[in-house]
This record gives sequence, C-alpha cells and structure tokens, in this order.
Amino acid sequence: MLVKVSNHLTKLAEKSPAIRKQFFPSEKENECSRRAFSDPLLEEKNKKVKGLIHKYPKRVLVELSLDCLSFCRFCTRRREVSDVKKGIISSADIGRMTSYIKSQPGLNEVIFSGGDPLTVPELLIDSLNRFAKVPQIKIIRIHTRVPVSNPESFNKNVLKALERINKQKTVYFSIHFEHPDELTEETIKVIKVLRKTGAILLSQSVFLKGVNDSYKVLEELFTRLVELGVRPYYIYHCDLVKGVEHFIVPIEKEIEIMTKLRKNLSGIAYPFHIIDTPNGSGKIPVPLDFWKFDKTKFKDFDGKNIRMY
Ligand code: SF4
Repeated sequence: MLVKVSNHLTKLAEKSPAIRKQFFPSEKENECSRRAFSDPLLEEKNKKVKGLIHKYPKRVLVELSLDCLSFCRFCTRRREVSDVKKGIISSADIGRMTSYIKSQPGLNEVIFSGGDPLTVPELLIDSLNRFAKVPQIKIIRIHTRVPVSNPESFNKNVLKALERINKQKTVYFSIHFEHPDELTEETIKVIKVLRKTGAILLSQSVFLKGVNDSYKVLEELFTRLVELGVRPYYIYHCDLVKGVEHFIVPIEKEIEIMTKLRKNLSGIAYPFHIIDTPNGSGKIPVPLDFWKFDKTKFKDFDGKNIRMY
C-alpha cells in the first residue's frame, strides 16, 4: 500500500504518537507470518459486478474508489486500497450496480465504503440519487474517514445531497475514529454540520496496539463521541491481514478493556466488540469477562470452530 498522509494529519502527528503510528509506515509491515491473509473477509470472491460486494443477505457494499485522503497502515483492504487506477468507477459501472441491486429483492441496504467514497464526491452524489430511486432500498450507509483525515475538504454538495436523500431514505453516516487526538476543532465542526443533515451518525474503530489498547484512551474517545452525537457502533479486533500483524492486540487484553468500559460507560457510549471471521462468514460479537469462556477459540456463523490467533 502506498504512503499518503494529509497535511492536517501530518501536523497532528507532530504532537500525537497515536496519529503517527496509524499513518506513517513502519518496517514491521514487511514481517508476515504464514497465518496472515491478504483478503481475510473473502471480498474478492463475493464481488458481483465491478465495485459491488454482496456477502450478506440484506445489504451490499459498494466501493466507489480505492483512494483515501490518507492511507491507514492497518487497512483491512490494503491488498487493493491505494491502487487508485484499478478502483476507478464509471457511470456505466453504477448502472450495472443498480441493475444488480434491482435483481436482488432481499436487499434493503447499500453501504458505501472503499477506499473512501468522499474522495469522489460527484460520483457519490450520482450514485446516491440512483440507488435512492430503487424502492426496496430503505437504508443508505456511508463509511468515511474524511472528517478525520482532512476535515476542511468536506464537500458541501455532499451535505446538500445527504439532506435531500434523507427525506426519502434513512441515511447512516459512519465515521472511522481511533483516538481522541483525532477530535480536533475542525473535525468537530464537520460532525456538527453533518448532524444538521438529519443523517444518523455512527463511529467505527479497530483495536490497535500502541494506539488505543488502553481503557483510558477508549473511555475518552467513546465518551466524547457520544457527547458530540456520534453513537459508537463497532470496535473490531484487528483483522489478520498481511503487513498489519504488528497492530493486533491480544484478545484477552481487549476483553479486559471492554469489560471495564461496560462497567463504567453509559450503554449508548458502548460499541459492539467484534471479530470478523477470517473465513468471511461474518461479524462475531466477543463476550465479556462477566462470563467464564474459552478465549482460544470461537464459532463462526455456520457453527465451525475458529482458533483465536
Ligand atoms: S480510510 Fe478506510 S479504506 Fe482508507 S486506508 Fe483507512 S481504513 Fe482503509
């Protein structure tokens, strides 16, 4: 994966080791165990038309671009993210996605992810308009890190489109946060503007060694997010991806932190703690230490045993 860090994050990184670790490469990316995958979620296998992944019965994931305003070194899709040319999506591709969605009556949700869909604002607006016309699609979700990586570049036309689409469909806007240092004045300003569009704001995070594997850091992050009107939704165990293993936190430590958070945080500030199974079967919730259980293995959606790595 190429290296790209916005000016906004470069400035923040001067003072924040947590930002430096997320966006500036380390030699550890070249260390790779034989267990690691390049596509742990089996997304390639589930690509139905260019840019569209259909893995779960009710929702599809759309990759409008493989570009981001900064590349996170721990990205699960690092096999393809930053290959901007490969990820170019045309209006005809959006047409093929729309036809596919119409052909699947069980779908009710479209998730825009990537890469970052906010790197191609005009294409995002065009696809929002086209997907919103499909009657069975009731929910639109947009996943982005632009409010963190370059808040001042947030596109005003996208805000207008969100306001408009929100009148027809329910729009969820999911922002990727890892550390309270990301909650700068500029980022908070974007959150406030986004709230006015009527979209429901969620956050997603990943446990990252040396960045947020601490009770204190996550307690502050989730408390501040919920105060700002962003509901913490998921915190993932870092996927077993080639070049990313140095970020993985031992599951025992994650459970200890999550158990302490559950004791002290309000329910609306507490996200699901999830393992995305390395066989693409789905997102398995991790239990807390209020129960006795075997932390060396878990079952996937099909009941198959998976050994913890
Ligand atoms: S913003 Fe998302 S898609 Fe882009 S590099 Fe970071 S994690 Fe990957």
